[in-house]
Amino acid sequence: MPDRNCDVAIIGAGTAGLSAERSARRAGAKTMLIDERFAGTTCASVGCMPSKLLIAASKNAHSIASAAEFGIHARSVKIDGRAVMARVRKLRDAFVASTLKSLDDIPDGVRLEGTACFVEPGILAVDGARVVAKAIVIATGSRAAIPQTFKGLGQILTNETVFELEDLPTSLAVIGAGPLGLELAQAFARLGVDVEVFDEGDTIAALKDDAVAQSLRPLLEAEFPLRLGTSIVASQAGNEIEISWSGASSGKRRFSHVLVAAGRPPNMKELALEKAGLELDDHGIPIFDRTTMQCGYTPIFLAGDCDHDSPVLHEASAEGAIAGHNAARFPAVKPSKRSTPLAITFTDPPSASIGCPANDESVVGETDFSDQGRAKADGRNAGLVRLYADQGGKLTGATLSAPEAEHLAHLIAWAIEHGQTAMQVLDLPIYHPTYEEGLRSALRQICQQIDVGFAADRDEGSAPGI
Ligand SMILES: Cc1cc2nc3c(=O)[nH]c(=O)nc-3n(C[C@H](O)[C@H](O)[C@H](O)COP(=O)(O)OP(=O)(O)OC[C@H]3O[C@@H](n4cnc5c(N)ncnc54)[C@H](O)[C@@H]3O)c2cc1C
Repeated sequence: MPDRNCDVAIIGAGTAGLSAERSARRAGAKTMLIDERFAGTTCASVGCMPSKLLIAASKNAHSIASAAEFGIHARSVKIDGRAVMARVRKLRDAFVASTLKSLDDIPDGVRLEGTACFVEPGILAVDGARVVAKAIVIATGSRAAIPQTFKGLGQILTNETVFELEDLPTSLAVIGAGPLGLELAQAFARLGVDVEVFDEGDTIAALKDDAVAQSLRPLLEAEFPLRLGTSIVASQAGNEIEISWSGASSGKRRFSHVLVAAGRPPNMKELALEKAGLELDDHGIPIFDRTTMQCGYTPIFLAGDCDHDSPVLHEASAEGAIAGHNAARFPAVKPSKRSTPLAITFTDPPSASIGCPANDESVVGETDFSDQGRAKADGRNAGLVRLYADQGGKLTGATLSAPEAEHLAHLIAWAIEHGQTAMQVLDLPIYHPTYEEGLRSALRQICQQIDVGFAADRDEGSAPGI
């Protein structure tokens, strides 16, 4: 078979790879987009979208279950697990179809189906074909890690299989208290599944601010046991899985299913990176510059979850655009400014981490949402917001777990992106009564600590619960 030549070969047709291909083609490169399956992005097929569809169902169940607080009594609530899962799959399939449709925009001859690996720098083997490229973008994503204790057992689910369940499980052990594990644990618990979460560490939802994590923990524990600091051993027990745990607590019980959400290492093993001429870090990931996505001075670029840097969708897309553009222009590689880090976990309340974590120099302002006016009205008054600023009051980061945190997080991220100070944000209009008002007390606390009087002293006494 003759060699297939191109300017830029992109390995992986997920969010990052599609973005890289588009960007390289727009920059005038002859591209080759390689994927094992062209089955739709992780986001649409087994990630962001099906998980949010399940969460949407659980929110409705939870609203009905908590309606009595408002004097509303639903006579009987029946959760039809088959219908819940059928809706998840139906809408998921529509999202997948729309990502597959975007492949139609790619010119003929650009797509190549198969598993790619390096033969030498600049040359890839893709099943039977050889692809010779002036530059290569690796955008191979990540895959769920399965700890040894679960290998060979039945009823072990990951994000790749859980949405294929025809019905809701009876009981579910979720392994991993990170964003993916907690989102799905709470969703299943609210749909009536008997859920327990296990994690060998003490961190929840990847939150680095302990005060915020401590405010979230009891809210989750009110819905399902959260067994942090435990190591587990699993074994098959007929149709069930028996989990024994020890550490901060110990015990043993059986579950109908186990959902493993214990990390997603990059898909790098099949690439034979040792033949690519790249310098690798201790985890086997090529060392790269996150402003150019270039690996050393080579014509090889990374994008998306495979670089293990910011495994979220908007970063995968941004990294793809940077990598694709630079691969097309190699060696004229240009750095791009990266946006303010933003990560959200869609639990209820949601949590978010924005910008840089606090350090010893940070000025910190807090809002406790247990007394926030709008949150009280809605029966959602729980959570904590912590904003961080530098000594001049310029916002640098935040961690929050509060109602509507996904929206508040965007406001904070945009303010940080625009280099705004707590004083400047306090001067912006905020309607009453809203969740956004909850940010004001944290901002005022920062102003008080750096001793700028004006906005901090504004009289808001007549408006309740700000
Ligand atoms: C359950 C879950 C929920 C999530 N929720 C959110 C969320 O709410 N918000 C958010 O921002 N992010 C979320 N994410 C993360 C988000 O989905 C990822 O950051 C994003 O999809 C990564 O895109 P990617 O292009 O790097 O990888 P992918 O979309 O996985 O694409 C990688 C592609 O590479 C192909 N490939 C791999 N190896 C090879 C090879 N050797 N040869 C050829 N092809 C290969 C694969 O087949 C795949 O098509 C979630 C993830 C999961 C798993």
